[in-house]
Amino acid sequence: MRCDKCRREAILFQRYSGLHLCRDHFLSDFEAKAKRAIRNYRWVSPGDRIGVAMSGGKDSSALFSFLHHLFEGRRDISLIGLTIDEGIAGYRKPDEVRSFVESYGQKWAGTSFLAEYGTTVDAIVSSRGDRLSCSYCGVLRRTALNRLARDAGVTKLAMGFNLDDEAQSVLMNILRGDTERLLRRNTPVPMMVTRVKPFMHIPEREVALYAYLTLGSVPESRCPYIHGALRAGVRDLLNDYTFHHPSTKYALIRVKEGLTAEDQVSAPPPYQLCPRCGEPSGPVCGTCRILDEVKKTD
Ligand code: SF4
Repeated sequence: MRCDKCRREAILFQRYSGLHLCRDHFLSDFEAKAKRAIRNYRWVSPGDRIGVAMSGGKDSSALFSFLHHLFEGRRDISLIGLTIDEGIAGYRKPDEVRSFVESYGQKWAGTSFLAEYGTTVDAIVSSRGDRLSCSYCGVLRRTALNRLARDAGVTKLAMGFNLDDEAQSVLMNILRGDTERLLRRNTPVPMMVTRVKPFMHIPEREVALYAYLTLGSVPESRCPYIHGALRAGVRDLLNDYTFHHPSTKYALIRVKEGLTAEDQVSAPPPYQLCPRCGEPSGPVCGTCRILDEVKKTD
């Protein structure tokens, strides 16, 4: 197959656009999409310190590398890698993430569930089973990451979420009937660092290809509790459907963007600060509730 833009050998066929792309045109298409997202959402401003949430996997490593190259000439914008170790044996490797970040001459900071909460995902699973491990882990990680970012002076928290992640989240919220999350806007909340997602319009397999072409092979470790995640089932369902309807994931993103557009929602969701831990939360602080539950069974 030949590239539709230059007739060189194509390395990718984008089913949703109908285009065959060679290496160079794929890289420029990819980076144009990420830059467009940053520009359209006004995600980066002069003076920003961007914290990149780093798991060590391909998505976050590619995002860090992309942002480093995008802003390396800008003295008014700084970058830092951030890692949370959930305490899952053999899964996270914070030292390797730190080395990766420091190889770019950038700073890194990390913390763990053990340091933040006195427990780990492994300990929670051994006392309560793994049925809710992802629900607990997600809430606790969000709080720990926000706190770590705030303490590091971060003004924008960059997440490696791709189109598949975003589309899955929209579909999960629909399937759960969670209208509060479906309608939640990315409005500034006191003490909550604003999240930005430069790869949110780029399919997962293109992020993997970009990571491979720019970084080489990035070793991926698999969380042993992933099978319990509702997301895993939704991912399979969505991938099956998208095989026949290639633009479905983009359609789901448009649903979310349409529902949360400025003129569609009259008031931001009711965030407040938890009286116990002082972190931003909904009416009931999910982090404190989980910690009470898991400590009861320790
Ligand atoms: Fe946490 Fe679930 Fe992700 Fe494992 S798969 S890191 S338990 S959210």
